[in-house]
Amino acid sequence: MSLDIIKLLPDSVANQIAAGEVIQRPASAVKEMLENSLDAGATQIDLVVKDAGKTMIMVVDNGCGMSETDARLCFERHATSKIQTANDLFAIRTMGFRGEALASIAAVAQVELKTRRKEDEYAVKIVNEGSVVKEQTITSGPVGTTLTVKNLFFNVPARRGFLKTNAAEMRHIVDVFTRVTMMNPEVGFTLTSDGKEIYHLYPGNLKQRIVGLMGNVYDERLLPVRQETEKIKINGYIVKSEYSKKTRGDQFFFVNKRFIKHPYLNHAVEGAYMEMIPKDNFPGYFINIDIDPAEIDINIHPTKTEVNFLDQNLVYAVLHAAVRKAIGQHNLSSQIDFNSPAEPNIDFGKVVSADTPLFTSVDSSTTSFNPFRTHESSGKISSNEDWRKLYGERVDEPKDEVVNSLVDEDDINDLLRGINLEKKQDLPCIQVNNSYIVVATESGLLLIDQQAAHERILFEKYLKMMDSSVNTPSQQELFPIPVTLSQNDVSLLKEIMPEMEKMGFALQQASPTSFMIMGTPTDLGDNDPVALVEQMLENQKCNAKDVSITRKLNLAITMATRLSVKENTKLSNEEMQNIVNQLFSSSVPELSPSGKKIMVKILNDEILTMFD
Ligand code: ADP
Ligand code: MG
Repeated sequence: MSLDIIKLLPDSVANQIAAGEVIQRPASAVKEMLENSLDAGATQIDLVVKDAGKTMIMVVDNGCGMSETDARLCFERHATSKIQTANDLFAIRTMGFRGEALASIAAVAQVELKTRRKEDEYAVKIVNEGSVVKEQTITSGPVGTTLTVKNLFFNVPARRGFLKTNAAEMRHIVDVFTRVTMMNPEVGFTLTSDGKEIYHLYPGNLKQRIVGLMGNVYDERLLPVRQETEKIKINGYIVKSEYSKKTRGDQFFFVNKRFIKHPYLNHAVEGAYMEMIPKDNFPGYFINIDIDPAEIDINIHPTKTEVNFLDQNLVYAVLHAAVRKAIGQHNLSSQIDFNSPAEPNIDFGKVVSADTPLFTSVDSSTTSFNPFRTHESSGKISSNEDWRKLYGERVDEPKDEVVNSLVDEDDINDLLRGINLEKKQDLPCIQVNNSYIVVATESGLLLIDQQAAHERILFEKYLKMMDSSVNTPSQQELFPIPVTLSQNDVSLLKEIMPEMEKMGFALQQASPTSFMIMGTPTDLGDNDPVALVEQMLENQKCNAKDVSITRKLNLAITMATRLSVKENTKLSNEEMQNIVNQLFSSSVPELSPSGKKIMVKILNDEILTMFD
């Protein structure tokens, strides 16, 4: 006689398992709680934390409150007032909708909810510990909701053990607070930590809110960005180019007020600054993209900050133009004359019309690829005409100068006509400053940044290797090189090992905290293999995301930036030829994987006028 062995998990266990995904640290609970208060229509929201949220997180709001029944129901999994049918998913304007945040929080903490609607005379208080309701009473209290979350992970010691120092957890909380409050300037917020008020944000306009969060010096630094088309509305502020920074800390995108990260759109903004900021500096921006929810895929995990646009090329184009316009109108830089028809801009038309975003790899086995083809229409914005459609009809503000100056893809095609890739001919190349390759073509000159170009080439090479089914043979080390690592790094390294091996590393674990590098990729040159491995781990940590595609991009970028030929390096003629030829068989010859401009063109016409 056989026994049936499958059982349904009790709710408390199911909730606890699911909580692991939604609530990873105090800051995740803070985010859900603040968002719920916003969804409840609160105009004042106060956040109080103790021990960086480990001991207590309290959010007090003056929003709509809950009925007694709802107050009890809200801790159930999939309990939400925000959607009812699957169709509602395409019209979501609220921050939450999955109905799992409170259930998750209650599964791993001691929670006290006090809430009252304005039509009710009394408030209701509910105490829930680890998904078990311990108390439900009627009490007095103001309209709105106060949710107190104590001893997060009290019943999941392993999780609690993984929390970082108070300083680190507090940084996460401040990040979340910044992201949630920024695009809601009409709502007042405070943040108090261990009895000390660290933010007091008064209701006001967006500029005041940004200044309130980022500091008074920003008052002088911001330029408004505004652009409206039929489908999207962009508003926000960018930081003047002279205040660009060495880090990306000031970069904030929001879609319908929800914070997102989006390398492709980031590129649209950074590209718009072009040569106005020094290389290696990053512009700051605080930009909201308002878009019909049906135009984005919001069906993403609540803790993720990615978003997919149905038409991301359109968003790219509008955003780029909007930032360009903001910079132009304020005449920030005298370096660029926006009325000049010959304003050099090599990358825009192509990037916008590329079907794939910045990070793409090209399978060279599809030999039909020809970087010098004229653009086939992909149904996206790809021709001047589409541009006019987009702007001419929708935007009544100065339209032409910005937009027209961005479209000169004919020029680039002209310029490249002289080069025939199939023949792999020798191109007349010279090196300038040991950093740039100048290529003469029939219709003009191309100036190529050797480092950026080589990064693009290596990036695609390593992406391809990782996608291949076989490991790349590595260069065997005569004497294996030891690397000592922390426990965390050891597990991380094990995680990325398959990809590393595909790229030509040969690694062997030697002890619980050390590895031997037995072999390295052939491109390594003088690079220190230990430093390279460490850098790869570091970059993985900075961009910790569990999507494997992002992991590959990350690894490929690290390899490319690390192993590329640097500026101030003399190249032989053959090396230059190789770079140029390989660059033009890459998928995006205009841009390095980190978004740097690879080339600048000078047309014969322009050369002529220089001598007039
Ligand atoms: P979701 O926000 O995805 O709907 P949550 O678990 O975060 O799911 O919240 C469940 C429900 O509890 C919400 O849909 C809302 O009706 C109610 N709720 C949560 N927090 C508040 C609050 N601060 N004020 C009023 N209602 C709230
Ligand atoms: Mg919610």
